[in-house]
Amino acid sequence: MTSTMIESKSIELLNEFGLFKAPVNVVKLAEKIGITIEEQDLDDGVSGFLVRKDGADIIGVNKYHPEVRKRFTISHEIGHFKLHVEVPLFVDYYKGSKLNRKNAGGNYRLEKQANTFAACLLMPKRLILDELAKLDEELEYELKLYSLSKKFIVSKEAMDYRLKALGLYDYGF
Ligand SMILES: [Zn+2]
Repeated sequence: MTSTMIESKSIELLNEFGLFKAPVNVVKLAEKIGITIEEQDLDDGVSGFLVRKDGADIIGVNKYHPEVRKRFTISHEIGHFKLHVEVPLFVDYYKGSKLNRKNAGGNYRLEKQANTFAACLLMPKRLILDELAKLDEELEYELKLYSLSKKFIVSKEAMDYRLKALGLYDYGF
């Protein structure tokens, strides 16, 4: 599955439920597709998980993590839900944690796809272009980054990565 296909899937999903606007309401999206979100007392290294049970699909998210990380985790798990229907359980570890490498045991390809899905879902290209158009072109990249990450409720790192992936890094220079 290519990133272009993943991007199309994320946009279709947002449009289907009238959620194609910034900031993307990922909690509502999860509800709409029948997933229950549970904020849980998880180990700091664990970002979240997806459990697929008949008619009772659950996304667990670490209640101690900051809002932007929770939103990314929920989006990542929605990615697994939509893209990897054959896998009943995913447990996701925070990237900065030592647990990540040791215990994830995950399939790198599937994790990468879920991350791509999450970035596309939270930061759709068209919405980013709309927001960029509202900003002063002369604004420094750092300030644009700040403004966009606030608008989309994502971390500056995630927005920076997304802008670079979209080739918008030099926007305004
Ligand atoms: Zn994952």
